[in-house]
Amino acid sequence: MSSDLRPCGTRAAYERHRRHGQPIDEACRKAKSAYVYAKRGGYQRARNRALTRLARTFPEMFARLEAEHFAADGVTSRSGGVYQRSRRRAMAELARTLPERYAPLLAAELAAEARRMNPPADQESR
Ligand SMILES: [Zn+2]
Repeated sequence: MSSDLRPCGTRAAYERHRRHGQPIDEACRKAKSAYVYAKRGGYQRARNRALTRLARTFPEMFARLEAEHFAADGVTSRSGGVYQRSRRRAMAELARTLPERYAPLLAAELAAEARRMNPPADQESR
């Protein structure tokens, strides 16, 4: 195929080893797991930003859901882990309630994360 094979220690090399049934060396294994962690973190960041934007766009509906979840979860102050988890559940419910509003926000934030992870390579146009 092409001569510009990516060296060991890259995700491309890891995928190449997999395709060719080659043993995975340590450098490639690390590159792959770093990629997976970054991707997972990127999704969480994108989701959190999209949920926050949705809550800011519909403050009254969010306040109502928050109050319901706080009551159900026994949240009495706006701090601590119980509060954070309860608030997150309220945000998730807002997203389920308004899927057509949430979807484009999430798509935009995921696209922003993808650009952060894979900046356009102007040298490698083909
Ligand atoms: Zn390798």
